Amino acid sequence: MATPHFTRRRFVGQLSAAAALALAPRWSLALDQPPPAKKLGVALVGLGNYSRGQLGPALKETRFCRLAGVVTGDAAKGRRWARDYGFSEKNIYHYNTMSWLADNPEIDVVYVVTPNSLHAEHTLAAAKAGKHVICEKPMAVSVAECDAMIGACRSAGVRLAIGYRLHYDPYHREMMRLAEPGEWGPFTRMNGAFSFPMGDRPWRAIRRFSGGGPLMDVGIYVLHAACMAAGGVAPVAVTAQEILPKSRPDIFQDVEETITWQMEFAGGGVCDARSSYAEGGNRFRAENDKGWIDFSSAYIYNGLAATTSRGPLSFRHPEVNQQALQMDAFARDVLDDRPSLVPGELGRRDMAIIEAIYTSARTGGQRTEVKV
Ligand code: NAD
Repeated sequence: MATPHFTRRRFVGQLSAAAALALAPRWSLALDQPPPAKKLGVALVGLGNYSRGQLGPALKETRFCRLAGVVTGDAAKGRRWARDYGFSEKNIYHYNTMSWLADNPEIDVVYVVTPNSLHAEHTLAAAKAGKHVICEKPMAVSVAECDAMIGACRSAGVRLAIGYRLHYDPYHREMMRLAEPGEWGPFTRMNGAFSFPMGDRPWRAIRRFSGGGPLMDVGIYVLHAACMAAGGVAPVAVTAQEILPKSRPDIFQDVEETITWQMEFAGGGVCDARSSYAEGGNRFRAENDKGWIDFSSAYIYNGLAATTSRGPLSFRHPEVNQQALQMDAFARDVLDDRPSLVPGELGRRDMAIIEAIYTSARTGGQRTEVKV
Protein backbone atom coordinates (compact mmCIF):
# COMPACT_ATOMS: atom_id res chain seq x y z
CA MET A 1 0.00 0.00 0.00
CA ALA A 2 1.25 3.47 -0.77
CA THR A 3 0.65 6.82 0.85
CA PRO A 4 -0.59 9.62 -1.39
CA HIS A 5 2.55 11.60 -0.62
CA PHE A 6 5.20 8.92 -0.50
CA THR A 7 5.62 5.52 -1.96
CA ARG A 8 8.56 3.34 -1.23
CA ARG A 9 8.77 2.34 -4.87
CA ARG A 10 8.91 5.93 -6.07
CA PHE A 11 11.40 6.81 -3.41
CA VAL A 12 13.73 3.95 -4.19
CA GLY A 13 13.34 4.61 -7.90
CA GLN A 14 15.01 7.95 -7.43
CA LEU A 15 18.16 6.65 -5.79
CA SER A 16 21.19 5.38 -7.58
CA ALA A 17 20.97 1.60 -7.80
CA ALA A 18 23.75 1.07 -5.27
CA ALA A 19 22.38 3.54 -2.78
CA ALA A 20 18.91 2.08 -3.18
CA LEU A 21 20.12 -1.40 -2.42
CA ALA A 22 22.04 -0.19 0.55
CA LEU A 23 19.18 1.86 1.90
CA ALA A 24 16.38 -0.60 1.31
CA PRO A 25 16.70 -2.60 4.53
CA ARG A 26 16.97 0.50 6.71
CA TRP A 27 14.19 2.47 5.11
CA SER A 28 11.72 0.40 7.00
CA LEU A 29 9.28 2.96 8.29
CA ALA A 30 6.59 0.43 7.52
CA LEU A 31 4.73 2.64 5.12
CA ASP A 32 4.11 -0.38 2.92
CA GLN A 33 1.88 -1.87 5.58
CA PRO A 34 -1.86 -1.38 5.71
CA PRO A 35 -3.09 1.47 7.89
CA PRO A 36 -4.79 0.56 11.17
CA ALA A 37 -8.57 0.42 11.50
CA LYS A 38 -8.38 3.49 13.73
CA LYS A 39 -5.77 6.22 13.40
CA LEU A 40 -4.28 7.41 16.69
CA GLY A 41 -5.65 10.82 17.71
CA VAL A 42 -3.04 13.53 18.23
CA ALA A 43 -3.57 16.76 20.17
CA LEU A 44 -1.15 19.59 19.42
CA VAL A 45 -0.23 21.71 22.44
CA GLY A 46 0.65 25.22 21.24
CA LEU A 47 -0.58 26.45 17.87
CA GLY A 48 2.35 28.66 16.89
CA ASN A 49 4.50 28.67 13.77
CA TYR A 50 5.68 25.09 13.84
CA SER A 51 2.26 23.62 14.51
CA ARG A 52 0.60 25.86 11.94
CA GLY A 53 3.24 25.62 9.22
CA GLN A 54 4.45 22.03 9.55
CA LEU A 55 2.78 19.68 12.04
CA GLY A 56 -0.84 20.48 11.25
CA PRO A 57 -0.38 20.10 7.48
CA ALA A 58 1.69 16.93 8.04
CA LEU A 59 -1.16 15.44 10.07
CA LYS A 60 -3.29 15.68 6.93
CA GLU A 61 -0.82 13.29 5.27
CA THR A 62 -0.22 10.79 8.05
CA ARG A 63 -1.71 7.31 7.72
CA PHE A 64 -1.43 6.09 11.29
CA CYS A 65 -2.45 9.20 13.22
CA ARG A 66 -4.59 12.28 12.70
CA LEU A 67 -5.18 15.61 14.35
CA ALA A 68 -7.97 15.03 16.85
CA GLY A 69 -7.65 18.01 19.20
CA VAL A 70 -5.65 21.02 20.34
CA VAL A 71 -4.50 22.70 23.52
CA THR A 72 -4.40 26.47 23.15
CA GLY A 73 -4.77 29.66 25.13
CA ASP A 74 -6.97 31.10 22.38
CA ALA A 75 -10.39 29.42 22.14
CA ALA A 76 -11.27 31.16 18.85
CA LYS A 77 -8.08 29.82 17.30
CA GLY A 78 -8.97 26.37 18.61
CA ARG A 79 -12.39 26.57 16.90
CA ARG A 80 -10.72 27.56 13.59
CA TRP A 81 -8.45 24.52 13.86
CA ALA A 82 -11.43 22.28 14.67
CA ARG A 83 -13.17 23.53 11.51
CA ASP A 84 -10.06 23.24 9.32
CA TYR A 85 -9.13 19.77 10.54
CA GLY A 86 -12.56 18.31 11.15
CA PHE A 87 -12.42 17.47 14.84
CA SER A 88 -15.03 18.13 17.49
CA GLU A 89 -14.94 21.44 19.42
CA LYS A 90 -15.13 19.37 22.60
CA ASN A 91 -11.52 18.40 21.83
CA ILE A 92 -10.28 21.98 22.33
CA TYR A 93 -8.46 22.37 25.65
CA HIS A 94 -6.74 25.20 27.46
CA TYR A 95 -3.29 24.73 29.01
CA ASN A 96 -5.03 24.81 32.41
CA THR A 97 -7.46 22.04 31.51
CA MET A 98 -5.03 19.45 30.19
CA SER A 99 -6.03 17.07 33.02
CA TRP A 100 -9.44 16.74 31.31
CA LEU A 101 -7.68 14.96 28.43
CA ALA A 102 -7.78 11.87 30.65
CA ASP A 103 -11.50 11.53 29.90
CA ASN A 104 -11.14 11.79 26.14
CA PRO A 105 -10.58 8.46 24.35
CA GLU A 106 -10.24 10.27 21.00
CA ILE A 107 -6.84 11.64 22.06
CA ASP A 108 -4.05 9.07 22.25
CA VAL A 109 -0.99 11.28 21.77
CA VAL A 110 -0.16 14.78 23.01
CA TYR A 111 2.43 16.69 20.95
CA VAL A 112 4.10 19.49 22.94
CA VAL A 113 5.02 22.45 20.71
CA THR A 114 5.26 25.32 23.20
CA PRO A 115 8.28 27.46 24.20
CA ASN A 116 11.13 25.34 25.56
CA SER A 117 10.68 26.15 29.25
CA LEU A 118 7.08 24.89 29.13
CA HIS A 119 7.91 21.47 27.63
CA ALA A 120 8.37 19.81 31.02
CA GLU A 121 5.12 21.20 32.49
CA HIS A 122 3.08 20.18 29.44
CA THR A 123 4.70 16.75 29.15
CA LEU A 124 3.99 16.05 32.81
CA ALA A 125 0.37 17.13 32.38
CA ALA A 126 -0.04 14.88 29.33
CA ALA A 127 1.53 11.89 31.10
CA LYS A 128 -0.70 12.43 34.12
CA ALA A 129 -3.70 12.32 31.78
CA GLY A 130 -2.42 8.95 30.51
CA LYS A 131 -1.45 10.13 27.02
CA HIS A 132 1.63 9.25 24.99
CA VAL A 133 3.85 12.25 24.40
CA ILE A 134 5.91 13.67 21.57
CA CYS A 135 7.85 16.68 22.80
CA GLU A 136 9.60 19.18 20.57
CA LYS A 137 13.32 19.85 20.75
CA PRO A 138 15.04 20.93 22.87
CA MET A 139 13.41 18.42 25.20
CA ALA A 140 13.47 20.90 28.11
CA VAL A 141 15.79 23.49 29.59
CA SER A 142 17.76 21.26 31.97
CA VAL A 143 18.74 17.63 32.47
CA ALA A 144 16.80 17.65 35.75
CA GLU A 145 13.62 18.49 33.84
CA CYS A 146 14.36 15.72 31.32
CA ASP A 147 14.68 13.24 34.17
CA ALA A 148 11.33 14.34 35.59
CA MET A 149 9.69 13.98 32.15
CA ILE A 150 11.14 10.50 31.56
CA GLY A 151 10.16 9.44 35.08
CA ALA A 152 6.60 10.76 34.75
CA CYS A 153 6.03 9.01 31.42
CA ARG A 154 7.49 5.79 32.73
CA SER A 155 5.29 5.86 35.86
CA ALA A 156 2.21 6.59 33.78
CA GLY A 157 3.06 3.77 31.35
CA VAL A 158 3.09 6.11 28.33
CA ARG A 159 5.69 6.68 25.66
CA LEU A 160 7.86 9.74 25.29
CA ALA A 161 9.60 10.70 22.05
CA ILE A 162 11.34 13.86 20.87
CA GLY A 163 10.56 15.67 17.60
CA TYR A 164 13.89 14.79 15.99
CA ARG A 165 12.50 14.84 12.47
CA LEU A 166 15.89 14.37 10.76
CA HIS A 167 16.00 10.75 11.90
CA TYR A 168 13.29 10.25 9.27
CA ASP A 169 14.99 12.25 6.52
CA PRO A 170 16.67 10.18 3.80
CA TYR A 171 19.86 12.30 3.67
CA HIS A 172 20.46 11.99 7.39
CA ARG A 173 19.54 8.31 7.34
CA GLU A 174 22.14 7.82 4.64
CA MET A 175 24.74 9.56 6.80
CA MET A 176 23.87 7.27 9.72
CA ARG A 177 24.08 4.26 7.42
CA LEU A 178 27.54 5.30 6.17
CA ALA A 179 28.68 5.65 9.80
CA GLU A 180 27.85 2.00 10.53
CA PRO A 181 30.78 -0.36 11.13
CA GLY A 182 30.06 -2.41 7.99
CA GLU A 183 30.23 0.75 5.84
CA TRP A 184 32.70 3.56 6.48
CA GLY A 185 32.33 3.39 10.23
CA PRO A 186 32.01 6.33 12.62
CA PHE A 187 33.07 9.67 11.17
CA THR A 188 35.94 11.24 13.02
CA ARG A 189 36.34 14.79 11.62
CA MET A 190 33.18 16.87 11.63
CA ASN A 191 32.12 20.47 11.44
CA GLY A 192 28.86 22.28 11.08
CA ALA A 193 26.77 25.37 11.73
CA PHE A 194 23.13 26.25 12.10
CA SER A 195 22.40 29.96 12.40
CA PHE A 196 19.92 32.56 11.27
CA PRO A 197 19.67 36.30 11.81
CA MET A 198 16.95 37.07 14.36
CA GLY A 199 15.61 40.56 14.14
CA ASP A 200 13.37 41.05 17.14
CA ARG A 201 13.04 39.80 20.73
CA PRO A 202 10.62 36.88 20.77
CA TRP A 203 10.56 34.25 23.53
CA ARG A 204 13.59 32.65 21.89
CA ALA A 205 15.74 35.55 23.09
CA ILE A 206 14.36 35.48 26.64
CA ARG A 207 16.08 32.94 28.85
CA ARG A 208 13.12 32.13 31.10
CA PHE A 209 11.23 30.87 28.04
CA SER A 210 14.05 29.51 25.90
CA GLY A 211 16.62 28.30 28.42
CA GLY A 212 19.35 29.74 26.18
CA GLY A 213 20.11 31.26 22.81
CA PRO A 214 20.77 29.75 19.39
CA LEU A 215 22.48 26.68 20.88
CA MET A 216 19.16 25.59 22.44
CA ASP A 217 17.15 26.43 19.36
CA VAL A 218 19.20 25.45 16.30
CA GLY A 219 22.72 24.61 17.48
CA ILE A 220 21.15 21.44 18.91
CA TYR A 221 20.82 20.18 15.33
CA VAL A 222 24.59 20.42 14.80
CA LEU A 223 25.49 18.58 17.98
CA HIS A 224 22.82 15.98 17.25
CA ALA A 225 24.16 15.46 13.71
CA ALA A 226 27.68 15.06 15.10
CA CYS A 227 26.47 12.34 17.48
CA MET A 228 24.69 10.61 14.57
CA ALA A 229 27.81 10.83 12.41
CA ALA A 230 30.01 9.55 15.24
CA GLY A 231 27.97 6.35 15.25
CA GLY A 232 25.13 7.36 17.57
CA VAL A 233 27.22 8.19 20.62
CA ALA A 234 27.64 11.23 22.85
CA PRO A 235 30.93 13.14 23.06
CA VAL A 236 33.04 12.53 26.15
CA ALA A 237 33.93 16.21 26.53
CA VAL A 238 33.36 19.65 25.03
CA THR A 239 34.93 23.09 24.99
CA ALA A 240 32.99 26.25 24.09
CA GLN A 241 33.31 29.98 23.57
CA GLU A 242 30.62 32.65 23.53
CA ILE A 243 31.47 35.24 20.85
CA LEU A 244 31.62 38.71 22.40
CA PRO A 245 30.85 41.55 22.17
CA LYS A 246 27.30 40.94 21.00
CA SER A 247 26.34 42.91 17.91
CA ARG A 248 22.79 43.47 19.31
CA PRO A 249 23.00 43.35 23.10
CA ASP A 250 19.55 44.99 23.34
CA ILE A 251 17.94 41.86 21.84
CA PHE A 252 20.22 39.21 23.33
CA GLN A 253 20.23 40.52 26.87
CA ASP A 254 20.38 37.22 28.71
CA VAL A 255 21.15 34.59 26.07
CA GLU A 256 24.15 34.13 23.83
CA GLU A 257 24.03 35.68 20.37
CA THR A 258 26.76 33.49 18.88
CA ILE A 259 28.55 30.46 20.29
CA THR A 260 31.20 28.08 19.00
CA TRP A 261 32.01 24.71 20.50
CA GLN A 262 34.12 21.64 19.99
CA MET A 263 33.11 18.05 20.71
CA GLU A 264 35.53 15.25 21.53
CA PHE A 265 34.44 11.62 21.01
CA ALA A 266 35.86 8.53 22.71
CA GLY A 267 37.38 7.11 19.53
CA GLY A 268 39.31 10.32 18.84
CA GLY A 269 36.59 11.95 16.72
CA VAL A 270 36.16 15.72 16.87
CA CYS A 271 33.54 18.22 15.75
CA ASP A 272 33.84 22.01 15.39
CA ALA A 273 30.47 23.71 15.58
CA ARG A 274 28.85 27.13 15.56
CA SER A 275 25.42 28.59 16.11
CA SER A 276 24.28 32.19 15.96
CA TYR A 277 21.30 34.54 15.80
CA ALA A 278 23.46 37.12 13.98
CA GLU A 279 24.28 35.36 10.70
CA GLY A 280 23.18 32.60 8.32
CA GLY A 281 24.47 29.02 8.32
CA ASN A 282 23.05 25.59 7.50
CA ARG A 283 25.86 23.11 6.90
CA PHE A 284 27.41 19.90 8.16
CA ARG A 285 30.42 17.89 7.03
CA ALA A 286 31.69 14.56 8.32
CA GLU A 287 34.65 12.55 7.16
CA ASN A 288 36.90 9.67 8.06
CA ASP A 289 39.66 7.80 6.26
CA LYS A 290 37.15 5.95 4.07
CA GLY A 291 35.05 8.85 2.81
CA TRP A 292 33.11 12.02 3.50
CA ILE A 293 29.64 13.50 3.39
CA ASP A 294 29.08 17.23 3.00
CA PHE A 295 25.70 18.89 3.47
CA SER A 296 25.44 22.35 1.91
CA SER A 297 21.89 22.52 3.22
CA ALA A 298 21.66 20.32 6.25
CA TYR A 299 18.71 20.88 8.57
CA ILE A 300 15.79 22.28 6.61
CA TYR A 301 12.38 20.62 6.13
CA ASN A 302 12.91 19.87 2.46
CA GLY A 303 15.41 20.72 -0.25
CA LEU A 304 18.38 19.30 1.65
CA ALA A 305 21.56 18.99 -0.41
CA ALA A 306 24.54 16.74 0.26
CA THR A 307 27.47 15.20 -1.60
CA THR A 308 29.58 12.25 -0.56
CA SER A 309 33.01 11.16 -1.72
CA ARG A 310 31.09 8.71 -3.95
CA GLY A 311 29.18 11.54 -5.61
CA PRO A 312 26.14 13.73 -5.05
CA LEU A 313 23.18 12.29 -3.16
CA SER A 314 19.96 12.87 -4.99
CA PHE A 315 16.82 12.17 -3.08
CA ARG A 316 14.67 14.35 -5.25
CA HIS A 317 11.33 13.63 -3.73
CA PRO A 318 9.59 16.72 -2.49
CA GLU A 319 6.76 14.48 -1.37
CA VAL A 320 8.84 13.22 1.56
CA ASN A 321 7.43 15.00 4.55
CA GLN A 322 9.78 14.65 7.53
CA GLN A 323 7.11 15.50 10.08
CA ALA A 324 4.54 13.08 8.61
CA LEU A 325 7.12 10.30 8.59
CA GLN A 326 8.17 11.14 12.15
CA MET A 327 4.61 11.15 13.53
CA ASP A 328 3.61 8.03 11.60
CA ALA A 329 6.69 6.24 12.92
CA PHE A 330 5.71 7.23 16.47
CA ALA A 331 2.16 5.98 15.91
CA ARG A 332 3.48 2.71 14.50
CA ASP A 333 5.80 2.31 17.46
CA VAL A 334 2.85 2.75 19.83
CA LEU A 335 0.58 0.42 17.85
CA ASP A 336 3.22 -2.29 17.45
CA ASP A 337 4.81 -1.76 20.86
CA ARG A 338 8.25 -1.11 19.37
CA PRO A 339 10.93 1.16 20.82
CA SER A 340 11.23 4.62 19.30
CA LEU A 341 14.27 5.77 17.31
CA VAL A 342 14.01 9.08 19.15
CA PRO A 343 13.07 8.39 22.79
CA GLY A 344 13.17 10.85 25.66
CA GLU A 345 16.60 9.49 26.60
CA LEU A 346 17.98 10.94 23.34
CA GLY A 347 16.58 14.36 24.23
CA ARG A 348 18.10 14.04 27.69
CA ARG A 349 21.48 13.13 26.16
CA ASP A 350 21.44 16.29 24.05
CA MET A 351 20.47 18.37 27.07
CA ALA A 352 23.48 16.96 28.94
CA ILE A 353 25.71 18.00 26.02
CA ILE A 354 24.14 21.47 25.95
CA GLU A 355 24.66 21.90 29.70
CA ALA A 356 28.33 20.92 29.30
CA ILE A 357 28.74 23.41 26.42
CA TYR A 358 27.26 26.24 28.50
CA THR A 359 29.43 25.27 31.47
CA SER A 360 32.54 25.40 29.31
CA ALA A 361 31.57 28.76 27.77
CA ARG A 362 30.94 30.20 31.27
CA THR A 363 34.31 28.99 32.53
CA GLY A 364 36.41 30.51 29.77
CA GLY A 365 36.41 27.51 27.44
CA GLN A 366 37.57 24.88 29.91
CA ARG A 367 37.37 21.29 28.75
CA THR A 368 34.15 19.97 30.31
CA GLU A 369 33.19 16.33 30.57
CA VAL A 370 29.79 15.33 29.25
CA LYS A 371 27.94 13.22 31.79
CA VAL A 372 25.15 11.37 30.03
P1 NAD B 1 5.90 29.93 18.38
O1 NAD B 1 6.27 31.09 19.25
O2 NAD B 1 5.54 30.20 16.97
O3 NAD B 1 4.70 29.12 19.05
C1 NAD B 1 4.67 28.84 20.43
C2 NAD B 1 3.22 28.63 20.86
O4 NAD B 1 3.20 28.43 22.27
C3 NAD B 1 2.32 29.83 20.55
O5 NAD B 1 1.10 29.36 20.01
C4 NAD B 1 2.09 30.45 21.91
O6 NAD B 1 0.83 31.08 22.01
C5 NAD B 1 2.16 29.22 22.81
N1 NAD B 1 2.42 29.55 24.21
C6 NAD B 1 1.84 28.93 25.25
N2 NAD B 1 2.24 29.46 26.39
C7 NAD B 1 3.10 30.45 26.10
C8 NAD B 1 3.83 31.37 26.88
N3 NAD B 1 3.75 31.38 28.21
N4 NAD B 1 4.64 32.24 26.25
C9 NAD B 1 4.74 32.24 24.91
N5 NAD B 1 4.05 31.36 24.11
C10 NAD B 1 3.22 30.51 24.70
O7 NAD B 1 7.11 28.90 18.47
P2 NAD B 1 7.43 27.69 17.47
O8 NAD B 1 8.40 28.15 16.45
O9 NAD B 1 6.19 27.06 17.02
O10 NAD B 1 8.26 26.73 18.46
C11 NAD B 1 7.60 25.96 19.44
C12 NAD B 1 8.50 24.78 19.83
O11 NAD B 1 8.73 23.97 18.69
C13 NAD B 1 9.86 25.19 20.34
O12 NAD B 1 10.26 24.34 21.38
C14 NAD B 1 10.79 24.98 19.15
O13 NAD B 1 12.12 24.66 19.50
C15 NAD B 1 10.11 23.82 18.45
N6 NAD B 1 10.34 23.84 16.98
C16 NAD B 1 10.81 22.72 16.39
C17 NAD B 1 11.06 22.71 15.04
C18 NAD B 1 11.56 21.46 14.38
O14 NAD B 1 11.97 21.53 13.21
N7 NAD B 1 11.53 20.32 15.04
C19 NAD B 1 10.82 23.85 14.28
C20 NAD B 1 10.33 24.98 14.91
C21 NAD B 1 10.09 24.97 16.28
